Amino acid sequence: MAAAESAPSPLNSALAAVLGSVLEHARPKTSGAVATYIPELANEDPEQLGIALASVRGTVHQAGDSDAEFTIQSVSKPFVFALALEQSGLAAVTRHVGLEPSGEPFNAISLEEATGRPLNPMINAGAIVTTSLIRGDGADEKFAVIDAGLSAFAGRTLDVDEAVFASEADTGDRNRALGYLARAAGTLASTSEVATTAYFRQCAVTVTARDLAIMAATLAGGGVNPVTRERVVSEDVARWTTAVMTSSGMYDASGEWLVRVGLPAKSGVGGGIAALQPEEFGIGTFSPRLDGRGNSVRGVAMLEELSERHGLHMLEHRDAPLSPIGEISVGGAGADSEVAGDDVVAMLRGDLTFGNAEEVLTRLLPLLESERSITLDFGSVTRVGEPAARIFRWAAEALGETADGRARVELRDPDGVLGA
Ligand code: GLN
Repeated sequence: MAAAESAPSPLNSALAAVLGSVLEHARPKTSGAVATYIPELANEDPEQLGIALASVRGTVHQAGDSDAEFTIQSVSKPFVFALALEQSGLAAVTRHVGLEPSGEPFNAISLEEATGRPLNPMINAGAIVTTSLIRGDGADEKFAVIDAGLSAFAGRTLDVDEAVFASEADTGDRNRALGYLARAAGTLASTSEVATTAYFRQCAVTVTARDLAIMAATLAGGGVNPVTRERVVSEDVARWTTAVMTSSGMYDASGEWLVRVGLPAKSGVGGGIAALQPEEFGIGTFSPRLDGRGNSVRGVAMLEELSERHGLHMLEHRDAPLSPIGEISVGGAGADSEVAGDDVVAMLRGDLTFGNAEEVLTRLLPLLESERSITLDFGSVTRVGEPAARIFRWAAEALGETADGRARVELRDPDGVLGA
């Protein structure tokens, strides 16, 4: 039912049905409990259950309560980390916060002895330091920058649940204490009060599973929001952020998550999880009951099931790809008048990665003899990654000329896929 309701058109229904099916798989799992240490969160309806998937091409598929709003909580952490990286760069940010998985609960008192840095930006201590790095003097200014950034990731203006904010501000002394410790260690870039007030507002931003899917898809697409087409952060920042989600996004369950699900992800005590498959899609899930580590029980169940059923683990073994070498013609056999003597023309095809470039050169260079040249024809190539392009340019330059002055490796690139 849920799947059919949320499928906006019949063309959309195949993926919505897949999502609806994992949602129904997870629905009976009613263990766990809604977070209560932030009193206002205890009012969430525990039965809510939603999932959405956004492709990097901008299509969104949804099932269940995928438009229900809830507070983002810790799912904000990777996105604010990305904003800090975009603003200040990796070197400056990592002077304040580390990149090592902590293996500890999200609210652990975690500061490296030698540097005073929290171990990583996905636990509270690290996230509070990250928020302190965002430009702006007071909490309001910092939060305005954060809200604009989170909204750009989601592709719509995101609001704050004032009741949840007030509730955490009333009770958030442990987080304030983490702020004071980081301040004393010299790693907090503002006062503890400014950093935690901005952080509590950031955690109280309301999103839907659909928003989380689009936010995650923005990281999957190298920093470009697939729906608005806005570049939110650079490719480097998207990759660094995804790497930290991979190692630390599920707190002290991160290692097991990486083996079982294999999708970079981040959870929050509001019941949300954002997960992504780099280059392909983002997923958002919502279900408020949490396990002992603060991860949504049914969110974890849906992502585990989806990954297992559909082979979505990021390290899934893929079968040998199509050979990058199509037809090879020798000595004008292809009736190509430009091919002299027994020169070789190789038609390349598909997407040329570093590994494909290696195969092309390994198979073709042995054909080079003193009087022979090889033309690599890129006319049927769909895309050349920069690492591959570099190898081909190197071969064209470094392998020199035949005795009669022809390039030994010539790059024929009618559509300019090799780039500059
Ligand atoms: N605002 C919450 C806190 O700081 C976020 C924690 C979480 O989602 N894991 O305690």
